[in-house]
Amino acid sequence: MNAGSAVLVSPARVGALLKDAKAAFRAEQVNNPDIDAEWLMMSLLRCSRSDLFTNSEKTLSNQECADFQEFVNRRILGEPPQYIVGETEFYGRTFIVNPSVLIPRPETERLIDAAIPIVRSFVRPNILDIGSGSGNISITLAIDNPDSIIKGVDISTDALAVAEKNKINYGCKNLTFYRLDILKDNPQGLFQIIVSNPPYIASDEMNTLMEDVKYFEPKSALTDDADGLMFYQKFATIAPKLLVPEGWMILEVGGGEHSKKVFEIFNKPEFHNLDFVKDFNGDQRILKVQYRG
Ligand code: GLN
Repeated sequence: MNAGSAVLVSPARVGALLKDAKAAFRAEQVNNPDIDAEWLMMSLLRCSRSDLFTNSEKTLSNQECADFQEFVNRRILGEPPQYIVGETEFYGRTFIVNPSVLIPRPETERLIDAAIPIVRSFVRPNILDIGSGSGNISITLAIDNPDSIIKGVDISTDALAVAEKNKINYGCKNLTFYRLDILKDNPQGLFQIIVSNPPYIASDEMNTLMEDVKYFEPKSALTDDADGLMFYQKFATIAPKLLVPEGWMILEVGGGEHSKKVFEIFNKPEFHNLDFVKDFNGDQRILKVQYRG
């Protein structure tokens, strides 16, 4: 992790501060120096990227300068920009995030792509989102299909608080979040669809993660502290109790070997129509599987 911090010395004009921040990020080997500096400034000023350039001579207030300085220093210490600004984009919408929740990933948008046609094929489906985090999956599906009835469960009360804020921002009426430790307790109800992006990093792979992820994102959202398969094994066990006959599970998986291991967990007589959806790198990242009943 970088230990440095930058003192932005230029006069407090947008263009000059951005130039200093980019140089400081480059010196400290921040991954995307230009994009991150611009993103932090855009968020501070609540403006578009093109506004940054048209307002390049604009002078910032002392408070804005101090805030930008703080943003830059936090980024240099490795904090993901999404936590610094407190929000991120998922499936074209803005979601509040903080270090209690995983930062939604573009791969998880493929889970939504896979889920939407299945959700639309049912009338008023009951949907369960296991490990709802920021609420990104539940809320996106709730908005796409206002007739669905969605439950999002998470072990973390702090994550649930973030999900509630996001739910309020989007005014979702067909969605309830509540606390549940899926490894210990079974949810009530019968569902047409279960979706989940569970913690699937094996404990011995945690040290291979990027520092931004390893040191800042919630550990319980990343790993099961075991082989990365515990949640899928649990899902395979509880599916017959939770799913209607011909109900679906749509699950995010890790790349490569992990996807094959998860496939084998569901490669059993009680399930059929196993199918993977690839991410934009061509990796099999979303598993669809149907419970025969
Ligand atoms: N459902 C959230 C997401 O997909 C959180 C997942 C998690 O915490 N493992 O981003």
